[in-house]
Amino acid sequence: MSDTALVAVLVAAAAGILAGLAWAASRGRDDDRRLSSFRSSPHYSEGLHALATGQLELAIHELDKVRREHPDAVEVQQVLSHLYREVGKTERAIEIHRALIARHDLTRAERAYALASLGTDFRKAGILDRAAEAYREALVLEPKNLHALAGQQKLHEDQRQWREAFEVQTRIARMRKSDDALVLGFLQTELGREALAAGRRDLAEESFRTALSLDRRVFPAHLALADLWLERDPRRAAQVLEDAIAAVPERAYLAFSTLQRAYAAAGEPSRFAALCERLVSQDPRDWRARLGLARHLRAEDRPGEALGLLLRAVEANPHVLLVHLEVWRTLRAMSSLGPEELKYVATVEDSALYVDPHICTVCRYRADDMLWRCPHCHEWNTLVEERVGPAAGTR
Ligand SMILES: [Zn+2]
Repeated sequence: MSDTALVAVLVAAAAGILAGLAWAASRGRDDDRRLSSFRSSPHYSEGLHALATGQLELAIHELDKVRREHPDAVEVQQVLSHLYREVGKTERAIEIHRALIARHDLTRAERAYALASLGTDFRKAGILDRAAEAYREALVLEPKNLHALAGQQKLHEDQRQWREAFEVQTRIARMRKSDDALVLGFLQTELGREALAAGRRDLAEESFRTALSLDRRVFPAHLALADLWLERDPRRAAQVLEDAIAAVPERAYLAFSTLQRAYAAAGEPSRFAALCERLVSQDPRDWRARLGLARHLRAEDRPGEALGLLLRAVEANPHVLLVHLEVWRTLRAMSSLGPEELKYVATVEDSALYVDPHICTVCRYRADDMLWRCPHCHEWNTLVEERVGPAAGTR
C-alpha cells in the first residue's frame, strides 16, 4: 500500500474511532458500566496508540483483547467493527454488528447505530439488498439517523437510482444545514442523462439547467447542454461552454473538442485559438491548452508554430504522453521523419497508451481518464489531473 493510501485509510479509521467515541460521549448518562471500565485497560491505550501510528492490524489485535475483557462495552465493538471493515474484513464486521443487534440491553439509539453500521458493512461487501434492509430498519428506529441516511444515499447512487439519491441528499442537507448544492447538481445531471437516454430531450434540458442553477461548477451539466445545442444553435453551445470555462477554468480542456466544433459550425474557427492562447497566458503549465492549440495549428497547416508550442509543453510537463505523441505527429506533418521513425509513430498510435492519468483528491484513487464520481470513495468531483512537474533544478 502506498503512503498516501495508508494515510487515507488511517484518517478514515480515525474518523470511525472518533465517530464512535463522540457517539459514546453523547450517550453520557449513567452508562458507567460501559464507559469507564474498559478505558483503564492497557490494551485500550495500546490499541489507540497503534491506530495513531497507522498499525491497523495491531490496533485490531489490542482492541479485540479489550472486547473480550469487557463484552459489555458497546462502543469498543463499534470501533473494532469499523476497523475490520477498513482493512477489508467485512465478514468479521458483519459478525460483530449482528451480535450487537441480537443483544437485549441496547438503547434505541445504540440499536439504530448498529443497524446503520451493519448496512454499511453489507454495502461494502456488495450485498445491496441486505444493506437496504439494514438502513431501513435503522431509520424505522430513528428516522433522523444521519449515518443511515448517508448510507442509503450512497446505496441509491451505487444502483444509479438518481431520483431517490437526490431526495435523500436533499433531506440530509436540510437536516444538517449543509450546502450540498454541488452534489445535488451532479445528481440532477445524472437524471438529465437518464432522460436523454430515454429520448426525453426537454426533460433532460430541464435537469441540466436545474443542475446549473444549483451550482454553476457542475461541469458535466454544461457539457451536456452544449451537446444538446451543438447542431441546432452552435453559437449558443459555444456560449454554454464559455460559461463553463469561466466557472471552472481548470476543467476547460474537457470542453475543447465540442467547443472547437461549435466555433467551426458557427463560422468562427479562430476563436478556438484565441481561447487556447488566453488559457496558456493564464497558466503556463496548461499543456492541454497548448496541445489543443497545436492540433488546431496543425490542422490549419501551420506545423512549425505547433511544434514550438509543443516543445514548451514538453518542457513544462515532460510526463505527458499525449504531448510527445503530438510532437511526433507534427514532425510527420512537416515531412521530417524517415521510414523507421514513421514506423515507430504508427506503432505508438496503434498502441493503447492514450492514458490520461487522474487522481482522487480524497482517497488517492488513480484513473486512466476523467471521472465525475470516484469509483473508490464514491465522492463527486474529486478527480484532478495528476501533475508531475519538471525535475528539481530545472526551470
Ligand atoms: Zn476517491
